[in-house]
Amino acid sequence: MRTALAAILLSALPFQEAPPREPGPFRAPDLVELVTIDPSIRLDVRYATPNNLAGRAVYTQARAFLQRPAAEALVRAHRALRSRGYGILVFDGYRPWRVTKLFWDVTPPEKREFVADPAKGSKHNRGCAVDLSMYDLATGREVEMPSAYDEMSERAYPDYTGGTAAARERRDLLRAAMEKEGFTVEPNEWWHFNYRDWAAYPILDIPFSEINQRQPLKDQTNFVFLRNQQ
Ligand SMILES: [Zn+2]
Repeated sequence: MRTALAAILLSALPFQEAPPREPGPFRAPDLVELVTIDPSIRLDVRYATPNNLAGRAVYTQARAFLQRPAAEALVRAHRALRSRGYGILVFDGYRPWRVTKLFWDVTPPEKREFVADPAKGSKHNRGCAVDLSMYDLATGREVEMPSAYDEMSERAYPDYTGGTAAARERRDLLRAAMEKEGFTVEPNEWWHFNYRDWAAYPILDIPFSEINQRQPLKDQTNFVFLRNQQ
């Protein structure tokens, strides 16, 4: 009886402050920093700057990580694009759960199709989603795409038919290179790709500064990571 009452009270809480509990089993997380596999992958980690949808820096470090199989697949896509004159420019990879929660809280309800529901977690929280574009190998500059990164409009849809033909061709080239390596594009964000094994990894809430690259994280439940917050 008391347990039932507690469950009702918990479900009535207005805000969820912890990641959803999932039964698993999960693979042990093995987050890899992308530039350590291939330093020619470029980074523009907007969430470490005020230039993002929260309007302030939400990361203390401009770094990007993915689970090892996803990181290796991304590097293969990056190398395949070389012959077309492009390299991969990463905006975001693994994202701690509390940042997903923050984005949800600051996004108006009518725009929430563009952000993940913290009650379910994001594939970014599992280290299996990556936001990216391309840079031009000749100039080193970010290429023009049909929309800006994190733009909340129909221009962000991967099947958007407006804009310039050149921008659409680059968007489609990037998508094809990623799909060949086991990623799928998000239906309303041309820059967001999910790795096929995402369901095998738990939702994590560990900050970048605590990711130990030499030793894979041993704990396989997200609960223990909550005790290690910055
Ligand atoms: Zn994303």
